[in-house]
Amino acid sequence: MGEVDLKQEIARLKRERDAVILAHNYQLPEVQDVADFIGDSLALSQKAASTDAKVIVFCGVHFMAETASIICPDKRVLIPDLEAGCSLASTITAEQLKAWKNEHPDAVTVCYINTSADVKAECDYCCTSSNAVKVVKSIPEDRPVLFLPDMFLGAYVAEVTRRKNMYIWPGECHVHAGIRPSLVLEMLKTYRDAEFLIHPECGCTTSMVYYFGNGNGCAVNNNSNGNGNGHGNGHDNGISCNVKFLSTEGMMRYARQSSARRLIVATEVGILYRMKKENPEKEFIPISSDAVCKYMKMITLEKVYRSLRDMVYEVKVQQDTARRARRAIERMLAIN
Ligand code: SF4
Repeated sequence: MGEVDLKQEIARLKRERDAVILAHNYQLPEVQDVADFIGDSLALSQKAASTDAKVIVFCGVHFMAETASIICPDKRVLIPDLEAGCSLASTITAEQLKAWKNEHPDAVTVCYINTSADVKAECDYCCTSSNAVKVVKSIPEDRPVLFLPDMFLGAYVAEVTRRKNMYIWPGECHVHAGIRPSLVLEMLKTYRDAEFLIHPECGCTTSMVYYFGNGNGCAVNNNSNGNGNGHGNGHDNGISCNVKFLSTEGMMRYARQSSARRLIVATEVGILYRMKKENPEKEFIPISSDAVCKYMKMITLEKVYRSLRDMVYEVKVQQDTARRARRAIERMLAIN
C-alpha cells in the first residue's frame, strides 16, 4: 500500500475503532501527519487523559505508552511496535532503584518521566524536563534528593536550584549525550545571528550552563518561570550566546514567539518537521543531523496501520504498579 492509501486506511480505521493517534515530537514526519495530537510525553499523557476515544494509538516509545495507560487505565492503549524502547529509561531498573534508596533512607526520590512503570512506582515524584526544577524546588531543602535517571538533566537542575544534597543517577540518552559542548561552541561561532535552543538532556547542558553562567557575560536564569528553564544572552569573544534551555514543548512555544529568523535546535531531529511546518517563515537548523532516536523511528506508517487493523500491541500496567506510579505522577501534576 502506498503512503496515500495507508493514510486513508488509517483515517478509516481510526473512526471505526473510535481511536485517537498521539505522536511524540520525535516521530517520523508521515506519522506526525496522521496524528490527532503531537507533543512531548507529558502533553501526550494529558491528552490521553482528556480524550473520549476508547482506543489510544501511542506513537512514541514504550514508557510513554505505559504512562498513558497508568493515567487512563480504562482505555485501550496500543503501541505500534513493542521494541520501541528508550536507552535512557533502560539505565535503571526497579531493583537497582530499591538498592539505591536503601543507601539513602531519608531521601526523596524524583524520577524523570523517561522511566518504566516499575521504576515510577518506587518514586515519590515524577517530573519532566519542563517542570524538573519546580518539582525539586518543592522538596524541603534539608531532605536529600535522589534524581534519576538522566545525569545531564539532574546536573542542570542541581545547578539551577543550587542544591547541594542531590544525588544523580548516571544515566544518559544516547541521542542527547552525543550533543557535546564542542559541537555547540562550533555552531555558536558559525551562526552568530541565531538563537540556540538546547534540551536539558543534552550532553552539552552542564558545561553550557556553567559556561553561560560563569564569567562569560551571559547569565543563567535561576528563577523558575514555571517551565524550569534557564537562558543566557550576551557575547563572549565575539561568540553569540543567545541560548535557551528548554523542554521540547518549551522549544515549540519559543519557536513561535521568537523574533529570530534562524534557530539552532539541540535535540532529536524529528522536532524540526513540526517546527518548520508551524513556522514556515523561520529557518531551523539541527545542531547535529546525527541526533536521531532509532527507537522513535521504529514507528512507521505501516505499523500504525497494522496497529489499528489488528489492535496491537496493547500496553497494560499491572494494577498495583499503576496505582503507585500514578501517585508519583499526580504529585508532579499537583505542583504544576
Ligand atoms: S531520544 Fe533518548 S530519551 Fe528520547 S526516547 Fe530516544 S533514547 Fe529515549
